Amino acid sequence: MSQHLNPAVIGEFRTIVGAAGLADTPEALAGFLAEWRGLYRGSATIALMPASTAEAAALVAICAREGIAVVPQGGNTGLVGGAVARSSPERPEVILSARRLRAVRAIDSDNDTITAESGCVLSELQGAAAAVDRLFPLSLAAEGSCQLGGNLSTNAGGTNVLRYGNTRNLVLGIEVVLADGRVYDGLRALRKDNTGYALRELFLGAEGTLGFITAATCRLFPRPRGVATAFVAVADPEAAVALHAAARRQLGEVLTAFELMSRYALELVLTAKPDARDPLDRPAPWYVLLETGGAETQTAAEQRLESFLDGQIQSDRVMDGVSCRSSSQRDALWSLRHEVSDAQRLAGASIKNDVAVPISAVPALIREGTDLVTRLVPGTRVVAFGHVGDGNIHFNLSKPPDMSDSRFLAQWEPLTVAVNDLVAKLGGTFSAEHGIGLLKTAELARFRGGVEIELMRRVKRALDPANLMNPGKLFGD
Ligand SMILES: Cc1cc2nc3c(=O)[nH]c(=O)nc-3n(C[C@H](O)[C@H](O)[C@H](O)COP(=O)(O)OP(=O)(O)OC[C@H]3O[C@@H](n4cnc5c(N)ncnc54)[C@H](O)[C@@H]3O)c2cc1C
Repeated sequence: MSQHLNPAVIGEFRTIVGAAGLADTPEALAGFLAEWRGLYRGSATIALMPASTAEAAALVAICAREGIAVVPQGGNTGLVGGAVARSSPERPEVILSARRLRAVRAIDSDNDTITAESGCVLSELQGAAAAVDRLFPLSLAAEGSCQLGGNLSTNAGGTNVLRYGNTRNLVLGIEVVLADGRVYDGLRALRKDNTGYALRELFLGAEGTLGFITAATCRLFPRPRGVATAFVAVADPEAAVALHAAARRQLGEVLTAFELMSRYALELVLTAKPDARDPLDRPAPWYVLLETGGAETQTAAEQRLESFLDGQIQSDRVMDGVSCRSSSQRDALWSLRHEVSDAQRLAGASIKNDVAVPISAVPALIREGTDLVTRLVPGTRVVAFGHVGDGNIHFNLSKPPDMSDSRFLAQWEPLTVAVNDLVAKLGGTFSAEHGIGLLKTAELARFRGGVEIELMRRVKRALDPANLMNPGKLFGD
């Protein structure tokens, strides 16, 4: 199977990782080559799964010697093709998977830190923190599959950014195998460390183009005692933004999540998931899922949120709402939100725009964006949802019901360019939390050209002069 690679080199790989650490049959490779959205089909004849930093370093050193490109892969849940291998006889690529780097190396509850290997699945890390009565706050719909290394490499966002920041804000130290096989050991658990350039920052959000992350030390937080969740109906995105501002003012820092979804997004979930129930009696155009978490008791948290929402109903900002009374109700509400991406498959081909604007510009983005895309392709259905508290809206587009997938996807470029131009006009970014990967390389050049991309290229050349780490991602071919 591994015809792109010299058998002697494969033998060297096998000696390092053993049979359990190497996949080279179609069956064993299938999971590494499939991609969540089905936009790309990976091609690689070998995937390597080191079980330690030393093994990873030895593998990368061989790749560097042989000129073999390395595609780091985590849980393979990325939405922009960043973990897709494109091996060819002229340019062999191997997948370097973190899936066997699963150890939680240390938890220091006095320092509120966890040091874990990059293949730890996010939900496992959340569980490890909960076991010592702490919170690891990164949370996203793919948390049952995505891995710490993928989260770091995409600087993942998710539903708690409002309170705790992006992944970048959670990282204190990092350990990376560099493109030449050496190890950068920056695994420090310090909140203050002004010692020159903040090298770790380079690898966060680098999408595997500068090195292979093997471990990180991350911040933990007190576990909230009282968590209150509500699902409310609002008339329009303007009302949602006003509600967000009121919630920030009146609830303060305990506000942890503020998620918007349109009626159409909810309907897709209700149709796709037979167990899902509409939480409210009457349909409304828009919904907000909001949550607070803090040191007060559960009862006090629920009372505080309910009294805030009563005031908002009286002032007509909120049309209707329901609060959770149990953890199963909370899970049911969150699953409505988490299932939107998956449920969108029901509506056929889709074009997904992961964009961010200043929070105040969210209504303009949704209103003007909807006008724009329905003018360009009449009948396009907008599935707008996302993290209003971060100004990050998934402005996703589903094909008109009577249009074929291929005809709609042929409009990818004009639709994406139009949305991204609008986003830029509103002071936003075309790439909020999913990254660039293969999908958005042209837009990176368009919006971050000149000095900005030149500096990025210089960093890439300095750390990976032979362009061996995840070639083609970020900058294109
Ligand atoms: C249903 C669904 C919901 C999602 N919701 C969100 C969301 O709310 N917020 C959000 O930010 N993202 C979201 N995502 C996107 C995705 O889950 C995140 O980007 C996640 O951080 C990717 O982690 P992963 O382990 O799957 O990485 P992969 O997909 O395997 O890789 C992603 C990138 O990181 C690189 N990489 C992976 N591991 C390493 C490593 N050890 N060292 C160096 N580079 C590495 C890869 O080369 C690639 O460029 C969602 C995805 C799905 C499917």
